[in-house]
Amino acid sequence: MKETIDGHARSVRSQIPLLTRELCGRPLVFLDNASTTPKPRSVIDAVVNYYERSTANVHRGVHSLGEEATRLFDDARREVAALIGASPGEVVLVRGTTEAINFVANGLELGPEDEVVFPASEHHANWIPWRVHGKPVPVPIDEDGVPRWETIEKLITSKTKLVSIGHVSNVTGAIAPVEEVVRIAKARGVPVLLDAAQSLSHLPLDVAKLGVDFLAASSHKAFGPSGVGILWSRKEFLAKCPLYQVGGGMISLNNDIDVGGFVPRDAPFKFEAGTPAIEATIGFGAAVKWMRAIGMDAIRQHDLAMSKYLFEGLSDIPGVRILAKKLPYEQRIALATFVVDAPAMTQESVARALCDMFGVCVSAGFHCTHVLHARAHLPGTVRASPHVYNTTEEIDVLLEGVREIAS
Ligand code: PLP
Repeated sequence: MKETIDGHARSVRSQIPLLTRELCGRPLVFLDNASTTPKPRSVIDAVVNYYERSTANVHRGVHSLGEEATRLFDDARREVAALIGASPGEVVLVRGTTEAINFVANGLELGPEDEVVFPASEHHANWIPWRVHGKPVPVPIDEDGVPRWETIEKLITSKTKLVSIGHVSNVTGAIAPVEEVVRIAKARGVPVLLDAAQSLSHLPLDVAKLGVDFLAASSHKAFGPSGVGILWSRKEFLAKCPLYQVGGGMISLNNDIDVGGFVPRDAPFKFEAGTPAIEATIGFGAAVKWMRAIGMDAIRQHDLAMSKYLFEGLSDIPGVRILAKKLPYEQRIALATFVVDAPAMTQESVARALCDMFGVCVSAGFHCTHVLHARAHLPGTVRASPHVYNTTEEIDVLLEGVREIAS
């Protein structure tokens, strides 16, 4: 197990500059990848190269720099589309997962009685839009925050306009049974949205195989820059989806004779009004290239071995409650959310101590899932989320820290 984890990790960690720094006099142990990932050198270089050599607007400039910037930008969209088995024309560039889900919420033009079915454990990005658009119908979850998927069939009615699920929970790391959910929803003619914020960098993805209708994801959780993400959908939806913002760059024709008459460009450009996040998108393309060079299957193998190492290690520590501990490794990614029973310490102060005393970065609090924490009767949790570059030695540092704090 150690060999699988460390073999993968060693071959990639030297490519990530952040990992060479120290924190509080100790080597940095970054275990907060579910929040955001550190950036490989090739991503940083792609962004800097755009600034230093190709700064220009895209799809506008007739000069060489404009052409260069446009080529880099368009290549990035192609790269991201290929990662999920999609065609570039079906990939709308947005600010991130949050904007992508809001895009769909707006695009479906839901009325107050139109129901959206989603697990109660979802991140607020896949909860709050359904409070604002349509009517939320949460799928019940157990005391550990795992959806009771067997109940979903009954919740889908003639009023259901969408089923929206997180591919991987940002709290339990549980992988949703997407094929089964798609089968149930499709039998009722209901489209499915997949929030791939946590899965894009962990699991091989293919939109055709998954059978979903929408996929939302963020670059910054997949080794790319923040400020860009994707909404994937089929051409048919994009052709009829209403515009939610308008302006420059998305117009094919505007004349001053016919008031209100303008012709938008085809999708995806008609949804991308204004100057896009050019350098972030170019960096996103580089990040996808970087992940594909490692191989999504290799990343998954590291993940499986890492899950086992992390969960076995944490389970051995008295006074630690791990959420969804019993889920089989095949049904989760390497992400552990837990509570350390340490007198007079909040989970936030546990995380702070891990940083100050051991150089370990983890998340603490509610992780944008208030409902999940309420159902689990927890005022906060600690989340350790390793990725392909983390070693067993780093997990040992986390375990040493948790053991010391818990005792
Ligand atoms: N969905 C899930 C499962 C997430 O974990 C997150 C971020 O943590 C989001 C959505 C929102 O992503 P972003 O903040 O990049 O829009």
